[in-house]
Amino acid sequence: MGKKNKEYVFDPRTLVYREHRVSRWVLARRGLLFFLGSILVAIFYLWLYAGLFGLELPKTTLLKKQNAEWGGKMAIMASRMEDCRRRLDALSLRDDGVYRTIFGMSEISQEERLSGMEGLNRYAELRASDHSGHLYNNVKELDLLTKMAYVQSKSYDEVDQMAQHSGDIASCVPAIPPFYPGIRFRMSSPFGRRSDPLYHYAKMHTGQDFAMDPGNPIYAVGDGVVETVKNELYGYGNSLIINHGFGYKTRYAHLKMILVQPGQKVCRGDCIAQSGNSGKSTGPHLHYEVMYKGNFVNPNNYMDMEIPLDEYAQMVKAREEQTGLTTDLVQPVHKDRKTLHKRKK
Ligand SMILES: [Zn+2]
Repeated sequence: MGKKNKEYVFDPRTLVYREHRVSRWVLARRGLLFFLGSILVAIFYLWLYAGLFGLELPKTTLLKKQNAEWGGKMAIMASRMEDCRRRLDALSLRDDGVYRTIFGMSEISQEERLSGMEGLNRYAELRASDHSGHLYNNVKELDLLTKMAYVQSKSYDEVDQMAQHSGDIASCVPAIPPFYPGIRFRMSSPFGRRSDPLYHYAKMHTGQDFAMDPGNPIYAVGDGVVETVKNELYGYGNSLIINHGFGYKTRYAHLKMILVQPGQKVCRGDCIAQSGNSGKSTGPHLHYEVMYKGNFVNPNNYMDMEIPLDEYAQMVKAREEQTGLTTDLVQPVHKDRKTLHKRKK
């Protein structure tokens, strides 16, 4: 056993092995060469294995397997989200088609339901780093579902709010004249386009005008909640709006006195005001509007002017008994409707 840096060399002259010292430098160089050589051999074998025979390294096989597993998980996630999307779509359809329609609420458009999700660069980075696109698609879909669920739950809150404030559709929808038809009155201006009596240009008349003496009682035409009460010098003058739910609102304008307050619940036949001549008006009259889903509609289609007088009086009386408020304003002036109509002309 010799020391590491010693070698024995055969001397042919003396026929004896003799000791030969090898420098550390030479040893180091040999080691390095051996190391480089083995790397080259390894690379050659790798090339032979992977390049020429097309075989995979164990690590590659493992990574491929893991990748496939993740791909499978992503696909499961995508299909589950698709399922969620279908359910949410069904919910939104039922929301728009049934719940919101019942209460006369406007539908939520598909754009509104998906707004804020398109045209954004929020996914640019993700898209660049995600070659397969699985993660990118799933993240995008998940964001969309979150947004849809949020809009849907907000809509249900609105519907719930509406349902709590609405009663029975039959008692809410405007159905009677806003005043006792036995009084002296004249339909002075119909609904629709007309020339403005003050400014003389064609203008949409959004309601119906009934000329009548000031101080006549005005009644709620359906159950609802007083939405606004306004006292203006111009325009509608003293006016109020009742929200009946189911998409219906009514406005009563140019009033002398208003007997209700915003937020107050009213029933059909409740006395809410007295007719007058306030605001922009050419004479004492009631301006009466019916709005359905934000559009003005012809009030004629929402009242029966031929309602028997005693029926109207009975309804008002029943409400007075219920509320304990006696306005004592129903005084049948004309018993015979025909005479009344003749007098109007
Ligand atoms: Zn008018």
